[in-house]
Amino acid sequence: MERAERAAHKAGRNPGEIKLVAVSKTVEVARIKEAIEAGVSIFGENYVQEAQKKIEEIGRPVSWHFIGHLQSNKAKYAVSLFDMIHSLDSIPLAEELNRRVEKEGQTVKVMIEVNLSGETTKFGTEEAKAFDIARRVVNLSHLSLVGLMTMPPYFDDPRLSRPYYIRLRELKEKMVREGIPLRELSMGMSNDFEVAIEEGATYVRVGTAIFGERKK
Ligand SMILES: *Cc1c(COP(=O)(O)O)cnc(C)c1O
Repeated sequence: MERAERAAHKAGRNPGEIKLVAVSKTVEVARIKEAIEAGVSIFGENYVQEAQKKIEEIGRPVSWHFIGHLQSNKAKYAVSLFDMIHSLDSIPLAEELNRRVEKEGQTVKVMIEVNLSGETTKFGTEEAKAFDIARRVVNLSHLSLVGLMTMPPYFDDPRLSRPYYIRLRELKEKMVREGIPLRELSMGMSNDFEVAIEEGATYVRVGTAIFGERKK
């Protein structure tokens, strides 16, 4: 995406460190295939069942990431479907994922979703608990903790997202100083990913700007 590349250059970053997750919830298979033809290689899905159908049809010439709220009873399916889970938000969910991966015999990459705004409509752990979850996940042998994810409140003015992205980056830096080896920051959506890239995003999750408005 040109917009992402321009934002990377503007921020003095190498565009190669920024990966695009094309958010394909509600988008049908034919349009996902078009995106693959156009060079998209990572897709983000919010619902396990919806994703399962698409993954069965499209397969894995591309990578599938889970970005929605994950319930423990879906953990079993999630670990076999997805290469990465951006939305880990509790210790019990981490333990359940780890148990499920153990049976499948691989590792799953996870990010901790942090709710920085305190909005009750948003999922994710509160900032204060993120450290406890991170320390626990580091000790689970079948999960690989790679980073943090956040979703700020929606603002018409994308500059208002910046304080949230700064806080997520600072939280990651704090964890790194304490020996938790995180590399990734999953932050930025269609309306504000330039700001997220300026603040250090390594994954941007973009739906509308790629596929157009979703049907409600
Ligand atoms: C839907 C969704 C996105 C993409 O939002 P757009 O505004 O369409 O780019 C990104 N992240 C999460 C967690 C989502 O649920």
